[in-house]
Amino acid sequence: MKISEHLLASHTRYKTPYYMVKGKKPGPTVILTAGVHGNEIASIRAADQLLSKLRQREFLITRGKLILVPIFNQAAYHKRIRGRPDLNRTFPKSSEAKAVHPLSGELFELAVKLQPDWYIDLHEANGLSSINPKRLGQTLIINPGSKAIPAARRIVSKLNSSIIDSTKHFTVRLKHKEGSGRTAASRLLHAKAITVETCWSLPLTKRIHYQSRIVQYLLEEAHLIDS
Ligand SMILES: [Zn+2]
Repeated sequence: MKISEHLLASHTRYKTPYYMVKGKKPGPTVILTAGVHGNEIASIRAADQLLSKLRQREFLITRGKLILVPIFNQAAYHKRIRGRPDLNRTFPKSSEAKAVHPLSGELFELAVKLQPDWYIDLHEANGLSSINPKRLGQTLIINPGSKAIPAARRIVSKLNSSIIDSTKHFTVRLKHKEGSGRTAASRLLHAKAITVETCWSLPLTKRIHYQSRIVQYLLEEAHLIDS
């Protein structure tokens, strides 16, 4: 396994590191982002912990390629705000359109070059979806018709079997969101694109734990790690 560090939007004030982790064997490509919204701390911590474990060889990518962006919007993270503009509305909305921010522009350019099989975006949201289906907390969001739906359902069922309190169960939500990284990767690149949302009124350690487990299950589904 090899890890290399790179920068997105290196020539701008938005620059942020990303990591390319290559397994020994060839295989699929996965893009994993966190911190598109700077106040969604559990997703950023989970991505950070994954990076530390990869660096210490406690977590091994055996095949394929993982592109990890732990804190996409650095400025918003330092202020602990969602970020303005909302970067999850700045990705290209059609194959002719361009991204309207340097960060989403460079990430999407990288994605076009790498043609990822998977695109995973870690977030947090309000509410518990099992109590109120309108809420996005504790969901995996996928575009309608996406190839990622069966994998998302498998992951949710595995996860829920270990969550005793059913009000905290995860649900799969089908949603189209113009300008989001997920919808751009799903519709324009035909990647298996999933947004992960934990409920941020739950304790931080719990949320990080959920995020980390979902990432592990997703990397298993993508065959980057052995299950
Ligand atoms: Zn978010």
